[in-house]
Amino acid sequence: MSKTLALLHTQADGSLPKAALETLTAAASLGQPFDVAILGAGASAAADAVQGCGAAAFHTVDDPAVAQPRYATDAAAATALIQASGAELVLAPGTSRFARSLPGAAHRVGAQIDTHIVALNAEGGAVRAQRWFYRQRILGAFSRAARPWLLLLDTGVFAPWQGAAGAANAQAVAVAFTDDDRRTAVTGVQKPAADAQTIRPDAKLLFVAGAGWTKKQKDGQFHIGEAGALILDFLGKAQASLGSSKSLVDIQGEGQETLTFMSHMNQVGQTGSTPRHPKGIATCCHGEEPHAVGWRFINERRAVNLDPNCGWAQGKADVLYVADAFEVMAKVNALL
Ligand SMILES: Cc1cc2nc3c(=O)[nH]c(=O)nc-3n(C[C@H](O)[C@H](O)[C@H](O)COP(=O)(O)OP(=O)(O)OC[C@H]3O[C@@H](n4cnc5c(N)ncnc54)[C@H](O)[C@@H]3O)c2cc1C
Repeated sequence: MSKTLALLHTQADGSLPKAALETLTAAASLGQPFDVAILGAGASAAADAVQGCGAAAFHTVDDPAVAQPRYATDAAAATALIQASGAELVLAPGTSRFARSLPGAAHRVGAQIDTHIVALNAEGGAVRAQRWFYRQRILGAFSRAARPWLLLLDTGVFAPWQGAAGAANAQAVAVAFTDDDRRTAVTGVQKPAADAQTIRPDAKLLFVAGAGWTKKQKDGQFHIGEAGALILDFLGKAQASLGSSKSLVDIQGEGQETLTFMSHMNQVGQTGSTPRHPKGIATCCHGEEPHAVGWRFINERRAVNLDPNCGWAQGKADVLYVADAFEVMAKVNALL
């Protein structure tokens, strides 16, 4: 049985992100004793907030140096926390902050590290992890003899931990940060306005737009302005996450008139993302295999296409509406 640590970080407001609460659930699910370590602003208050999680001990670093996410200070703090806990197995959320800094911490403590873990189990004290390989085509289950072993968990896999707060009596771990560690400073955050943020990982629905929205329609004309208005209206009303086919985002790169709110970040598929949502609907998208492979984690799939022989009809969707997506989405928006 490996001594286990759930290594977490807080957000700017001092709360734990959802991904950290999911990591707590993962640690508790192994059925063996574990410690919790938290770095970041308000770490000891965050430890109190999750006191009821069943951890044997809490360790924190809430030095002002870790108030902002920064590789050097995060790696130093994580190293100190892992060493203070004496953990052999470290579970951490796969947030951008930890994806950046924990490989460095793993090197410093002589650990092995694996990322994108989607399942964990412990049988007879042996921990096995699962992750996808080759762009989500092969699911591998594996274990490692090396210790310490760090595992970065994908988000959305475990339920966020919920439970009682209390006095965690967290032990503050001192870290000797150097001036070099503090050399980089976060001077501000630039992000799109809330209504321009179209990628919503927690949305119940993925709405995919394909290149058909930008093609000539039955009147022989382009209706790109109307397409954009319909899609944005739907996204606002349904709070869906926006995905795209490769063809649609490539059109933009080629300088043709297209949907301005779409970028390669939205692309779903073999060379795009593989988002996780309970449901998905594809519109004006042909459903070719390099696109549909990105739907691996979409449980219920529907598509709207004029072509009854499109890829979605070849077993890739649960329901295909053979219809004009302009008319369908106008009606759906009116109903919403
Ligand atoms: C190595 C490789 C990697 C790739 N990776 C990806 C990837 O990651 N993601 C990806 O998406 N693609 C990827 N592709 C490209 C992929 O094969 C397809 O070319 C692409 O997905 C097609 O996009 P589309 O369906 O939007 O466009 P199109 O094939 O042009 O289809 C447009 C569809 O819109 C429909 N349509 C038009 N008007 C309407 C209307 N009014 N109402 C309803 N339907 C309408 C048409 O019937 C048609 O089916 C990759 C290809 C290769 C070779």
